[in-house]
Amino acid sequence: MFENLQDKLNKAIKTLKGQGRITEINVAATIKEVRRALTDADVNYKVAKDITDRIRDKAIDRKVLISVEPGQLFVKIVQEELTELMGGEAQGINVKGDPAVILIAGLQGSGKTTFSGKLASYLKRQGRTVLLVAADIYRPAAIDQLKVLGEQVGVEVYSEPENKNAVQIAQNAITQARKTGKKIVIVDTAGRLAVDEVMMKEIEAVKRAITPTETLFVVDSMTGQDAVNTAKTFNERLDFDGVVLTKLDGDARGGAALSIKTVVNKPIKFISTGEKMEALDVFYPDRMASRILG
Ligand code: GDP
Repeated sequence: MFENLQDKLNKAIKTLKGQGRITEINVAATIKEVRRALTDADVNYKVAKDITDRIRDKAIDRKVLISVEPGQLFVKIVQEELTELMGGEAQGINVKGDPAVILIAGLQGSGKTTFSGKLASYLKRQGRTVLLVAADIYRPAAIDQLKVLGEQVGVEVYSEPENKNAVQIAQNAITQARKTGKKIVIVDTAGRLAVDEVMMKEIEAVKRAITPTETLFVVDSMTGQDAVNTAKTFNERLDFDGVVLTKLDGDARGGAALSIKTVVNKPIKFISTGEKMEALDVFYPDRMASRILG
């Protein structure tokens, strides 16, 4: 995960690390390298410029040049700024409600169904009762896929293969959850290969009808700036509550993780790091920043 970015950032900072004295010229050169490492990682140019400007200002403010361990202090500033860039504090999901309803949105292939299974498993392990809902009315295979995952993690899956009305399916599922005492309903919706009006209208209608406790937008981190742009479009239509970044296990660059919070102003809440049901983590910006800095 993020190997390229890690490599380039470390190379950029190496010249400062471990040195007793550094000069203004050293710092300026490093700042420039850090900025290049970020843009090479597909971080939005403005985001990369802003963060490196802040790092420089903090370095001046905290008198890095005349500090005892200038390299260490500089790394600490970069760590703080990366943490802030990715959202600062970790943000949990709201699961209050009777039932709490979690709506899952995103493009086809982004990892929605896999994430729905993982989230169900995660919440079940916390002792909660969960109902998974297959609301993809276009791909019968999507229903089967969710059923397989539900079986795997021991969570019931609600579906109506003959019904072509996603709003109704979601509403009926919530009624069913109330009847059977399930406290959390996870609604997996249909995605398309690219943003299109039919998909957006449908998911908007589902959202309006079921007023979810939490709407999560799932996106493939490997698509870099495209991920950020898709997030922007979905957010304008859905005003979602949080982002789920998937396929981080295959993402060497990390541009989406670093840009999405600033561009969309919504927190990343979960990260998905593999196909297995256990490969799900709550997103902690500070831990991710430490990881990126090696
Ligand atoms: P959906 O169309 O949005 O529901 O996407 P799926 O859940 O079907 O996922 C699409 C493909 O990506 C499947 O082959 C998944 O196994 C795979 N996938 C999902 N999440 C991850 C992840 O975090 N890492 C990796 N490597 N593969 C993933």
